[in-house]
Amino acid sequence: MNLTTHCLQKYAGHRQKMIEEIIDRGIKDLRVIEAMSRVPRHLFVRETFQHKAYGDHPLPIGESQTISQPFIVAAMSQALQLKGEERVLEIGTGSGYQTAILSELAAQVFTIERVKSLGQQAKQLLDRLGYTHINYKIFDGTYGWRELGPYDAVVITAAGPEVPQALIEQVKEGGLIVAPIGDDQGQELMLYTKRGKRLSARCMGACFFVPLIGKYGVPEKE
Ligand code: SAM
Repeated sequence: MNLTTHCLQKYAGHRQKMIEEIIDRGIKDLRVIEAMSRVPRHLFVRETFQHKAYGDHPLPIGESQTISQPFIVAAMSQALQLKGEERVLEIGTGSGYQTAILSELAAQVFTIERVKSLGQQAKQLLDRLGYTHINYKIFDGTYGWRELGPYDAVVITAAGPEVPQALIEQVKEGGLIVAPIGDDQGQELMLYTKRGKRLSARCMGACFFVPLIGKYGVPEKE
């Protein structure tokens, strides 16, 4: 039995309930549903929070950051309409949970985290779980990862005033970007499609994310 299969025996009932909840809330993409059934979410939070890992809420992961709630991870993943061949850029590795889901859905994932300890922990866990087609970088993700682009899709898991220009440039024509836009007074989860130099936009609803801190995001507090 491999590590993931062993870990999936734990909290199997909680995970099933999480899956039923995301389906009730409108998640229809079978690949997303199957991916979320396959990833042991409780391993992405600290031991003291493991019994809460499958509830539909964010949880702290240290360094004042959070693991996003299951429905939001599912909705962002579904919005990208991934078929399995894509190269996806993720800004904000955090716990690595969304990275694992993207990695189940796409050919290659490129993930950037600005907080070194979080990026390192996520890599260790994802390596242990056997995810081999993820590329990691500790840096300010508002610059993107130009050398390895272009990407079919971009996921930003922290909120800023707009999508940084570098990320727009690094997505392919017709590619999708999903991102929370706004600040601590209000945010909307936006889905963009790149059309030439423009983005066409669709609002997916209200959300709340930690800030996208960086050169082309929110300035870091002194
Ligand atoms: N998807 C993640 C998960 O499942 O755990 C949630 C990540 S959390 C909501 C957002 C993450 O974005 C945090 O870990 C934060 O440190 C990171 N972040 C914020 N600004 C960033 C930036 N400019 N570049 C890279 N990561 C950033």
